[in-house]
Formats: sequence, structure tokens, C-alpha cells
Amino acid sequence: MGLVLPQTVKAKWQGRAITHYISKGYKFTNRGDELEVNVEDLSKGSEIKVRCNCDYCGESSIVMYCNYVKQIAKFGNFSCRKCSRAIRVKQTWQQKTDIQIKEINEKKKQTCRKKYGKDNPFQVEKFKTIAKQTCREKYGKDYFFANRRRKRKKKTKL
Ligand SMILES: [Zn+2]
Repeated sequence: MGLVLPQTVKAKWQGRAITHYISKGYKFTNRGDELEVNVEDLSKGSEIKVRCNCDYCGESSIVMYCNYVKQIAKFGNFSCRKCSRAIRVKQTWQQKTDIQIKEINEKKKQTCRKKYGKDNPFQVEKFKTIAKQTCREKYGKDYFFANRRRKRKKKTKL
């Protein structure tokens, strides 16, 4: 995937490209002449358009070689315009939700610390439930102090 190989493109003998193509073994003819270049011989900054296949959907698209090189350097793969947009949208939402989750957790912590002086709201909830259950098992009522009085009364009777 990525760059379609083998592939040749039409280039021109001009500017800095002249020394580059000569260094790659091409025979210089005349300034402004066209030459056929293997895409792998293009310079990294070349704006010549090349055919690439998307690594995600497989669709082929024509992009400037320098942009293809940039994408590979940045992401390690090539994605067409449509897939790039979809990936960007997905990443933005993932980042957003990550931040939101962090914020929510932080708020929960703070509220909990204010109310109970503890970091974990589950700890408090768990403690409350256990206390309630123990109370119910022992005395059949939800409120510990409601039973205390009755217990005392029983004791005085005995
Ligand atoms: Zn694609």
C-alpha cells in the first residue's frame, strides 16, 4: 500500500532538481526538457503528483510527493483525503472525551472530599451499605440508634 510501485512520472530539468536527478543517475539533456523519473528517485520536497493507495480503504489518489513523504514521516502510513478526515474527527472526539472523563472524575473526587473527607466515592458508599446491612441483620431495622433504645429497655427489664 502507499505509493504505487513501480511508477514513473514526468518531471522537468529545472532548478535544484537538475543536480538531484543527475545524482540519481539520469542523463541531463536540456534545461526545461521533460524526463521520465522513477517515483522512488524523486526528491523529498518534490511537488510532482504521484499515485498512492490509501492504507485504510485501498482507494488510489493523486497527491504531491512531498505531502506523501510528510504523511509517512508523521503517521507511518498513507491515508486518502476521506480517511484522513475521518481519522482526524475520531481522534478529536477521543481526546475530547478523555478530557471530559478526567474532569468528571476530578469533580467527583472534590465533592467527595468535601462531604466525607475521602477520595473515592465508592469507598463511602460501600461503607454506608455495609453499615446498613449489618444493622438490618442484627436488628431488622435501618437505623442503628433506633434499636439502641429498645435494646436498653430490654436490658432494664431483665
Ligand atoms: Zn481511504
